[in-house]
Amino acid sequence: MSTGHALHEFASRLFPVCRSISGEGVRHTLQLIGEMIPLHVSEVPSGTPVFDWIVPNEWNIADAYIKDGTGRRVVDFRQSNLHIMSYSAPVRDRMPLEKLKEHLFTLPDRPDWIPYRTSYYREDWGFCLSHKQLQEFTEGEYEVCIDSSLAPGSLTYGECVLPGESPEEFLISCHVCHPSLANDNLSGIAVAAFLARSLQNRRLRHTYRFLFIPGTIGAITWLARNQDRAFGIRHGLVLTCIGDSGGFHYKKSRRGDADIDRAVGHALRHCGEPWEVLDFSPYGYDERQYCSPGFNLPVGCLMRSPWGSFPEYHTSADNLAFIRPERLAGSLQLLTEAVLTIEGNRAYQSLNPFCEPQLGRRNLYRAVGGESLETEISARLWVLNYSDGTHSLLDIAEKSGLAFPMIRRAADLLLESGLLAVVEGPAEPERTHFVKT
Ligand code: ZN
Repeated sequence: MSTGHALHEFASRLFPVCRSISGEGVRHTLQLIGEMIPLHVSEVPSGTPVFDWIVPNEWNIADAYIKDGTGRRVVDFRQSNLHIMSYSAPVRDRMPLEKLKEHLFTLPDRPDWIPYRTSYYREDWGFCLSHKQLQEFTEGEYEVCIDSSLAPGSLTYGECVLPGESPEEFLISCHVCHPSLANDNLSGIAVAAFLARSLQNRRLRHTYRFLFIPGTIGAITWLARNQDRAFGIRHGLVLTCIGDSGGFHYKKSRRGDADIDRAVGHALRHCGEPWEVLDFSPYGYDERQYCSPGFNLPVGCLMRSPWGSFPEYHTSADNLAFIRPERLAGSLQLLTEAVLTIEGNRAYQSLNPFCEPQLGRRNLYRAVGGESLETEISARLWVLNYSDGTHSLLDIAEKSGLAFPMIRRAADLLLESGLLAVVEGPAEPERTHFVKT
């Protein structure tokens, strides 16, 4: 099976699960992720204060329906978990259509699609259905049942930590709180899990932390419980909406010039697909929390089509057909390039800085990396010239216009030939100006 199909297949396994910001759907999802990579699952009790928020009651649902006068289920949770407004309070009642309509949500301009709605922080109940379905409703009395529970329990999240040589961390974060929506949550989960699996058996310079968390409250909860650890995050990415057919969109960290911003920007310039880089804004996904001013972490957000920019967003049309195996594979590829750029980005010192070294005499005037001889020699000359201890390989890649992997290969070869020495970078983690009181 190709990587793209394996990614898509994994998303298909997660698709039917009824996820929300808490409850069995999240646990089941984490269990499926945990079958692929080592995952530590945390449970944080409802009522726990986390910064300005409180971990909410846990929500679970067994069944829900609307029955017409003949007893037929005209809306049925068993057919789509999107039919229920997430976090709907339990209800068993009969009511006329007029009153029921206050709790029904449709998309009149997309009459075949079911919208996705939530009511996390205000107790309410509701059903979502296609506008076509609603138009078939006749006047009369309806029976409504939402067999849900909203009670003290816990909020669940999963972490996969891959230790590297350095305690400095690379964070990959994705949300696991949307029900049957493919691009908006499953694409990020699948790509993150596959990246973790591929990094598992590599020698890593950074420590990798993969977070599979409920959006907003999950990130806030993790940050509240891991403040010291958070300040050890040196690079980070939020992954979302990376399986659709759109070009890449990378939203920069709030800092705007972090290594991760440069590494992703560089990988995009060389990826051969359409792309766009966006400045940070305080809305979107969990980069909002990681980049809140107290933390101001170097965390960007990698997407294909940005949230809200495609009509399928938050509807039943964000389904398994909307995400494409080759797009998921392309996203994993780009992400891997960015990660390897960060991993391999060091500064070197030329040991032969007075005029160019004679490459031919050292058997360095030959192609070894599958590129043209001219390109490889060019990469070596760029690395030799700018390896003055202050320019990193990414600096050199950007100056030369050559792709990072080529610059990295040149540096490896020159290091092996004794023409370069590694310059160790600063090891102290940066601190922000804010002090938690
Ligand atoms: Zn969403």
